[in-house]
Amino acid sequence: MLYGPPARPVRTIKTTGRPMTQSTTLSAPLRLLVRLPLWQQILIGLALGVAAGMAFGADAQLLAPIGTLFLNAIKMLIVPLVFVSLVAGITSMQDSAKLGRISLKTIAIYLVTTAFAVSIGLVFGALFSPGEGMNMVASGTQEAKQAPSLVSILVGLVPSNPVTAFAEGNILQIIVFAIALGVSINLIGERGAPAVRLFNALAETFYKLTDLVMRVAPIGVFALTAGVVGSHGAEVLLPLAGVIGVIYLASIAHVLLVYGGLLGLLARLNPLRFFQGIAPALAVAFSTSSSSGTLPVSIECARKNLGVSEGVAGFVLPVGATINMDGTAIYQGVLALFIAQAFGIDLSAGQYAMIILTATLASIGTAGIPGAGLIMLGLVLTAAGLPLEGVALIAGIDRILDMARTTVNVAGDLMTTTLVGRSEQELDRAVYDSSTKE
Ligand code: ASP
Repeated sequence: MLYGPPARPVRTIKTTGRPMTQSTTLSAPLRLLVRLPLWQQILIGLALGVAAGMAFGADAQLLAPIGTLFLNAIKMLIVPLVFVSLVAGITSMQDSAKLGRISLKTIAIYLVTTAFAVSIGLVFGALFSPGEGMNMVASGTQEAKQAPSLVSILVGLVPSNPVTAFAEGNILQIIVFAIALGVSINLIGERGAPAVRLFNALAETFYKLTDLVMRVAPIGVFALTAGVVGSHGAEVLLPLAGVIGVIYLASIAHVLLVYGGLLGLLARLNPLRFFQGIAPALAVAFSTSSSSGTLPVSIECARKNLGVSEGVAGFVLPVGATINMDGTAIYQGVLALFIAQAFGIDLSAGQYAMIILTATLASIGTAGIPGAGLIMLGLVLTAAGLPLEGVALIAGIDRILDMARTTVNVAGDLMTTTLVGRSEQELDRAVYDSSTKE
């Protein structure tokens, strides 16, 4: 069991025959709550956060420090956890051909699911036409942003100084360094044994630390969600309720159809168990709007709830949190159409092709941090010849959209991890199948 009740058993209510006092009555629901598996506690925290945000409005911001505390605690884990779990994972995989195969499969699945995501975004945007009748007029005076070139991205993969990569939290550079180190430890054979033991012990330690931080996740998720929902009043959301609805709908359709379908048909795994196993990661993604920030929780869910090996989870998830953004791709597909409709622009076939291409590339280039997708939307709009004012139109509601797209982004990373793990016999079926029992 991953996220079960706390280690110390909760005292049970003694039935002494005496009438219950006020305090026992009050604490009874709380006792029930802490006995639930952690994933259920987190979802309850999420639901209560939405309710509190709606009830208290901007006052819910008072909870912000608690949310930030939780966020800092999981962010604290990212760099060391990714590094040590990846090195430990690589040293457990002596077969270097296998590593190459895993990389290829990972990239292929990431690309295919992203292409599906943009297409679903475009189809939903065309079907529901959320921008129709908005009659916006473009002034055409804004500056376009430049995309980084492929060469500069590739050159930047190798850290000239690993310590700088750690300090800046540059996940791709940390991955490259960890793989190089892990492979080198493998190459020196027996002499590398103490290093293998050290990295294994460190990885276990960081998994434990993640476990501890996750125990306060229900409270953290509650505080973060209440703050975001509270600061977005109905007056901001209502005028754009249509586009918010379409993005949420397209996101749900993508997760259920594409992810559920691939897991069921390709991997022959029960998708319900997958969704239950990843619920903690989804709730943290939804409330933090950061795939990178959710990484420690994703790794934990993949290993302990889905039964994916350390090597596969430690490699596929950090790569995914950096380059695989299906939710962001859906968002860009829907919004490109929405903005064209709002400004009364008829899109040509060439513009559609441009949207598909740039939305896929932009989603790969988007950082796994809050609000990054909005900046990349500027790129897609510029490339497709659409007015950049669209970015300003969306900015006020972007956080609400970010919550949906980050959740999809994280679900996509975990789905790919499961598929790769399954195809490489790196998934423990007994663990996967038992996840509904918790
Ligand atoms: N916030 C998203 C994430 O972390 C990225 C985005 O803004 O699209 O996955």
